[in-house]
Amino acid sequence: MTRTRFAPSPTGLIHLGNARTALFNALLARRDGGAFILRIEDTDRERSRPEYETALIEDLAWLGLGWDEGPDRGGPHGPYRQSQRSERHHALLRGLVERGHAYPCFCSPEALEAERRAQRAQGQPPRYSGRCARLDPGEAARRVAAGEPHTLRFRVPHGREIAWDDLVRGPQRIDSTTLGDFVLRRTDGGVAFFFANAVDDADMAVSHVLRGEDHLANTPRQLLILQALGLPAPRYGHLPLIVGEDGRPLSKRSGALAVAELRERGYLPAAVVNHLARLGHRYPDEQLLDLDALARDFDPAAIHRAPARHQSQTLDHWQRLAVDALDDQSWWQWVGPGVAERVPEVDRAAFLQAVRPNCLFPHQAGEWAEIIYHRPEAPDIEARQVLEAAGPGFFCAAVEALRAHRDDPKAFLAALKAATGAKGKGLFLPLRLALTGRPHGPELGHLLRLLGPRAEERLAAHCHGN
Ligand code: GLU
Repeated sequence: MTRTRFAPSPTGLIHLGNARTALFNALLARRDGGAFILRIEDTDRERSRPEYETALIEDLAWLGLGWDEGPDRGGPHGPYRQSQRSERHHALLRGLVERGHAYPCFCSPEALEAERRAQRAQGQPPRYSGRCARLDPGEAARRVAAGEPHTLRFRVPHGREIAWDDLVRGPQRIDSTTLGDFVLRRTDGGVAFFFANAVDDADMAVSHVLRGEDHLANTPRQLLILQALGLPAPRYGHLPLIVGEDGRPLSKRSGALAVAELRERGYLPAAVVNHLARLGHRYPDEQLLDLDALARDFDPAAIHRAPARHQSQTLDHWQRLAVDALDDQSWWQWVGPGVAERVPEVDRAAFLQAVRPNCLFPHQAGEWAEIIYHRPEAPDIEARQVLEAAGPGFFCAAVEALRAHRDDPKAFLAALKAATGAKGKGLFLPLRLALTGRPHGPELGHLLRLLGPRAEERLAAHCHGN
């Protein structure tokens, strides 16, 4: 059975990068009819905050990535908070020491730093020399019993090839000798993140792990650990980074947006999900898809190895499709009660039809309600020039044409055209500006209907040479 997980550390908000990781894991489980697990990796006590856990659960729920097991809903492999699993981690560490797979290391940070410096000076990659690996076990045990500060290191077998078939990157291999004996437990008793992470995956029967490329270096270590523990390893797949429009890794400046921020700005979950699903993964279907459809065509092997480029324009394209796909009730909910209040009951359907194509965000619907039911936006310099150039004569003719064809926008436009000789932009632009103050907006016919008598007033204001 396919079991995937998302294992965020509650040290910050969910942004596009880790939201995509969560989504891909959710899609893989959904495609195979498996289970998707949420595990909170809160072992970094200093940086983990319960409010981040609450926020990330809220964000994932908003995206609609339902999980089958997690800290909020339990499941057969709990607890789902890493900090609550530490007894198990420590018990396994003791087992590794007993079986000689791990050993206490008494080297001081200063000694280790000196060692690294010397290696670098000789052009070698810094790696633990293995000094304490050669200590007599009896002596090591005595020093531990005497309370000497120490870490626990994994005894990396030499000359072993570590290989795995990466779900995204294909076959990978690395010579174990390049790793050096690594720390499993720090001097303060804290367990290395990648140890807890690997053990929890095995204990939760996780079958597939899709995670950021930044974890690639952990994988051979985790495979060695799991092997030494006699625990099954999941299949790992490493997702390329997401870069911003400038080609640099997403940062606050290049648009490393928090999901919460997108939600506050009025993005719809369907837009964010469809955008994320295509960051590095091509879908034959360019329509807005729901999770089931996205899952059907999801394939980790189809994930590009090159960094995925996030462009806000693409996100907005999906937002356009998502807004268009809202049913009427959901659209009104999305724009908020403040907008509905301003639109008379009888106009609701017409307003929605007229204004929806002009709104990517809810506040824009509010602006159109203001423009249509209260007053046009104040024209800027350019708009004033256009209004002046059209002249009072144009607007007097417009008033007359409107009176003659109040319920027939087409006939109104034809009459105005005939009376003034204006056409195309020369016809529409001054009309739009007089009616709304904006050069673009809802279709003119829709606008005239919604404006009713206000249309004539607004045109008349310019007929008197205002
Ligand atoms: N807690 C890790 C992170 O947030 C998870 C790594 C993994 O998915 O294996 O990066």
